[in-house]
Amino acid sequence: MNRSIQESIELFSDAVWPPVCHGCGRSGKLAVDEICSSCMDSIKSAMQVEYCPGCGRSVAPYELSPLGCSECRATGRRFVRVYRIAAYREGFADMFRRFKYSGFENLELFFARTLSRAIIQSEHYEDIDALIPVPTCWQHRLRRNIQSVGLGFHPAEGIARLISKHTSIPYAPILDRVRGGRSQVGLSGPARLENVRGKFALARGCQVAGGRVCLVDDIMTTGATVQECAKVLRRANVKEIYVAVVARAGEDTASLNLV
Ligand SMILES: [Zn+2]
Ligand SMILES: [Zn+2]
Repeated sequence: MNRSIQESIELFSDAVWPPVCHGCGRSGKLAVDEICSSCMDSIKSAMQVEYCPGCGRSVAPYELSPLGCSECRATGRRFVRVYRIAAYREGFADMFRRFKYSGFENLELFFARTLSRAIIQSEHYEDIDALIPVPTCWQHRLRRNIQSVGLGFHPAEGIARLISKHTSIPYAPILDRVRGGRSQVGLSGPARLENVRGKFALARGCQVAGGRVCLVDDIMTTGATVQECAKVLRRANVKEIYVAVVARAGEDTASLNLV
C-alpha cells in the first residue's frame, strides 16, 4: 500500500479509536509496546533502584558487597542470581497490578523481553538448564479464569514461556502445588513463610538432580514462596538456583500490596 495512504489511515484510525496505554489505561500517544511515555518513565525509575543480586531486595549501594546485601551476608546468599525488572513501588505498582490481574498482553511481552535481555546479557546465561514457573495459588487462578471467561492466565507461567522463547532455555513446569491454603496477599513476613510451608512438590517422575534452574514468578514480596520452591528443588539435589521476577517488593512496601 502507498505509504502516505497507509499513514493517513493510521492517523484516521488513531483519531477515531485513540490508542490506549496498557500501563495506565489512558488514551493518548504511546511510546513503545503500547505503553505511554509517563508509564515508561515509571518503569524506568523503578528499574533504576539498586538491588541485591543474591536475594533481589532493594538496597542502598553502600550495602552491597561481593557476598550480597547485609541480609545475605547474615543468613547466607539464597540464590546464585536474582533477575528482577523493577522495585514494586508507587507508579510501577499500579501497572504491575494491571498486568497481574488483567493480563495485559503487551505488558507481559515487555516484561518477558526485559527479563530475557537481562538473562542473556548475564554471565550465567549458558549455565541455566531450565525455567520453572512458580505454581499459582488456586484463588488467583480461579479469579483470573472467571474474569477472562475460561482463558486461564497465570503470570508466572506466561512470562516463563515467553522467556523460554527469547532465550531458548527450556520451559519446565515441574513444580506442583500439593496443598491448598489461602493466598499470600495481606500476610506478614513470618505468616507468609508459614502459609507456604509444604505447599510445593516436584511433579511425579521429574529428575532435576545436578541441574541449574531458574524459578520464574511475577513478584517476590518477602521471598517466602520462592524460598519454599527452592527448598523442594534443593532436596531434589538441584545444583544451582536462579530467580527471575518482574517486581520485588520489600517489607516496607507490603502496605502497597494487593498481590
Ligand atoms: Zn500509561
Ligand atoms: Zn541480599
